[in-house]
Amino acid sequence: MFQRILVANRGEIALRILRACREMGIETVAVFSEADRGAAYLELADETYCIGPPKPADSYLRIDRIISAAEIGNVQAIHPGYGFLAENAHFADVCRSCNIEFIGPTTESMQLLGDKNSARQIAKQVGVPVVPGSEGLVRNEAEAVRIAHQIGFPVLIKAAAGGGGRGMRLALNDLSLKSAFQQAQAEAEAAFGSGELYIEKYIEHPRHVEVQILGDNYGNVVHLWERDCTIQRRHQKLIEESPSPVLRPEVRQAICQAAVRLAKAAGYTNAGTVEFLVDKDQNFYFIEVNARIQVEHPVTEMVTGIDLIKAQIRIAAGEPLPFRQEDIPHRGVAIECRINAEDPKRNFRPSPGKIEQLIVPGGFGVRFDSHAHAGYTVPPHYDSMIGKLIVHQPTRQEAIACMRRALQELRIQGVTTTVPLYQEILAHPAFVSGQVDTTFVERTWPSE
Ligand code: ADP
Repeated sequence: MFQRILVANRGEIALRILRACREMGIETVAVFSEADRGAAYLELADETYCIGPPKPADSYLRIDRIISAAEIGNVQAIHPGYGFLAENAHFADVCRSCNIEFIGPTTESMQLLGDKNSARQIAKQVGVPVVPGSEGLVRNEAEAVRIAHQIGFPVLIKAAAGGGGRGMRLALNDLSLKSAFQQAQAEAEAAFGSGELYIEKYIEHPRHVEVQILGDNYGNVVHLWERDCTIQRRHQKLIEESPSPVLRPEVRQAICQAAVRLAKAAGYTNAGTVEFLVDKDQNFYFIEVNARIQVEHPVTEMVTGIDLIKAQIRIAAGEPLPFRQEDIPHRGVAIECRINAEDPKRNFRPSPGKIEQLIVPGGFGVRFDSHAHAGYTVPPHYDSMIGKLIVHQPTRQEAIACMRRALQELRIQGVTTTVPLYQEILAHPAFVSGQVDTTFVERTWPSE
């Protein structure tokens, strides 16, 4: 096992990893930008190094500085968390060439799956349904128009390197396709340095269902069931739950098995998520793989009892999976709300600033993963999530009641948050009955 790990991230996920290491008796090195200097969670690390100014490009994305900190700190492994360098195959490569284990999949499977277009091709090869769309990349508008006519409008233009809903545009007809193509290309180039695009049929009224997988270095791959992340705004998740409130048992089995097939075909190791869209008839379509730990991983931890961060570390250290598929339970219902410092009434505009008061909920089945505290200032340079509230209860009805109670207890003053919106969502008959799709939030609470 590793004696020392560097955490190449910040905020709640850095804290989550530091906690796991502490429990495993592993020493830690944390890195921080000038904006995070003095943050309380850094006290959990054995050593800390400043890696530059607040802007991610000058600190959390600086491979040279992170590797320097790893060398000085004398670590054997780096955990990248999510975001920043987590899905950067070059970073994984640099770590390993410096004899530092990257806690994540192999560079090869990251490359294969990180590109959404090549991931689609692998899915097709192993009989995993994909959204109908272009065979490969779409080079220009004329080609886009031709393909859109073949598969039928509406279509979605997507960036091969995409993430976080960026580089994605809906087109309803020829005219909007042309401008959507240009917008998606410009946005993808700016965000990912690559304007490569492909086209998918737009699935109407879909649910977002994803499957957590774990693979070891010996070819064993298991799934840890699904998470339903249909409650989104602008293609970004707000509330996640497991199990999905609607999937028929045979569909659930099929979707979980499809995820395992895809992971095996890509030689996938460590933790990952295979994402699908599910249409109203419960046909499912693969959309992408996230080759890293995800924000919403606690939902799966609660229902399976498996600590995913510890599992990632053990796999990277060369341990075989300690369980077989049939040993992985699914107990009760877990729901997570992402607590963001954002104003839902103003198009989710970030609301950074000082948290004057923070009262954290507790009680049976309540978990709050957060680096925030009273007196903490949410910096404006990073994403606006300040914590995750997770509940675990025997039934969905009880989980909803527990979450509503916990949200009432949670008091955050000083910054505007998404909490009031969650109270409304959790009380809404459509959510309670599970009859929602990915556009539910935008349709029900249109921004002013
Ligand atoms: P990103 O990597 O940018 O998050 P994804 O491919 O994971 O992009 O898609 C994010 C979300 O966008 C999905 O959860 C869904 O709400 C929506 N979406 C993606 N593809 C489609 C599609 N073909 N039809 C309808 N909605 C889609």
